[in-house]
Amino acid sequence: MEICIVGAGPGGAAAALKLSYLGIPSVLIDKQVFPRDKVCGDALSGKVITLLNRLDPAIMQRFAQIPRQPVWGIRFIAPNRKVIDLPFKVNYDPAAEPAPGFVARRMDFDNFLISEVRRRDNIRLMEGVEVGEMQRIEEGYRIKDKNGATLAETPLLIVANGAHSQFARKQAGMKKELKHYAAAVRAYYENVSGFHPDGFIELHFLEDIIPGYFWIFPLPDGGANVGLGMRADFVKKKGLSLRKKMEEIIHSHPAIKGRFARARRCGEIEGYGLPLGSSHQRISGEHYMLVGDAGHLIDPLSGEGIGNAMYSGFIAADQAAACLSANDFSAETMLAYDKRVDRVLGSEFRISYRLQKMLSHKRLAIWMANLIHKNRPLIEFMTEMYNDLSARKKLLNPLFWIKLLGGGKR
Ligand SMILES: Cc1cc2nc3c(=O)[nH]c(=O)nc-3n(C[C@H](O)[C@H](O)[C@H](O)COP(=O)(O)OP(=O)(O)OC[C@H]3O[C@@H](n4cnc5c(N)ncnc54)[C@H](O)[C@@H]3O)c2cc1C
Repeated sequence: MEICIVGAGPGGAAAALKLSYLGIPSVLIDKQVFPRDKVCGDALSGKVITLLNRLDPAIMQRFAQIPRQPVWGIRFIAPNRKVIDLPFKVNYDPAAEPAPGFVARRMDFDNFLISEVRRRDNIRLMEGVEVGEMQRIEEGYRIKDKNGATLAETPLLIVANGAHSQFARKQAGMKKELKHYAAAVRAYYENVSGFHPDGFIELHFLEDIIPGYFWIFPLPDGGANVGLGMRADFVKKKGLSLRKKMEEIIHSHPAIKGRFARARRCGEIEGYGLPLGSSHQRISGEHYMLVGDAGHLIDPLSGEGIGNAMYSGFIAADQAAACLSANDFSAETMLAYDKRVDRVLGSEFRISYRLQKMLSHKRLAIWMANLIHKNRPLIEFMTEMYNDLSARKKLLNPLFWIKLLGGGKR
């Protein structure tokens, strides 16, 4: 019997692909027809690359064919305009090694994942079909379209229909709390100037938008993905229109406007929600699992959600295999999915949430930037920290900063 996956973004596509490699058939349903766009910053972290490679190195060879900008690090700009360049790797060599991250338009990346789906005989892809009701039946779930016609019946439902998932809210009881949710807008531009030569993505913590940030991510054809994001409770408290604020920054911020002097916006400024992984909630139940944004799995500091959606999709597929072989789809058995997702992503979310709260204090952010700025050993430590969670934890310890201030050892 087929596993049914609703939503064919990175989370749903990854679940279908992993199931396929495990020899388990699935039906993957999406309301849109691919290629389709998704409002996003388009940054693909090392997590995405690792997961694709782990599934099948041949996929990575095909990934090399899609339009993408290699990314070697992150440029942070503090509210006092101090610039901190944090490479993903110490002493990297762009000419000799593959890049650790990329920026690729979601139109291209998601379509690439779907092209991988199309290569697999045991995935039945249904595009342009909007799921209406997911009805609980004795043996699992019955999936219906908008007109009430049955699309599939499945012993196990994987819900990957994104941030606005009705199933997550109404049937799985996921709560949407503003302090665990972010709002963001983005638009594509061409002719933006002043990029880092090695394609660093840029996060600007500008004075009047902290605790949010403005981003400029380079795209392969000389374009840029430009956006602004902030935790939803702060947007509400400040009464902000993110669209207006973004335009204001581009047209009049002294550190930004020069870079957009010759730039042209291609298309509208579009917005979408980001359910953050900082609230710990149950993401499975009898006969179902929530994957990606439907399960609120976006990093609360960086806003990274593509890699996490794919990770949770892979874990859901493994859990599906275990359930099928034991013929057990009980809520108790499904708990293993929650536990594994928490083991893989939970500590990252908890650290990011605490850092996010620290950075929401402007003075603290400036003080930290002053300490880090041009401190090469510390920048190297932070590069290490990017790849190592235990090193990242040190940032939360006041002693770490006190020792640093005194010039002591870390
Ligand atoms: C402005 C912004 C910037 C971001 N920047 C980044 C970034 O740079 N890097 C990063 O890693 N993450 C970023 N994110 C987060 C990232 O976009 C999401 O975490 C990611 O898309 C989650 O993937 P998903 O598969 O869970 O959901 P989605 O990508 O949203 O896919 C859900 C799919 O479900 C389908 N669907 C929905 N309802 C139905 C239905 N009723 N029937 C059938 N199909 C349905 C949709 O058509 C869609 O294809 C950003 C988010 C925003 C809003």
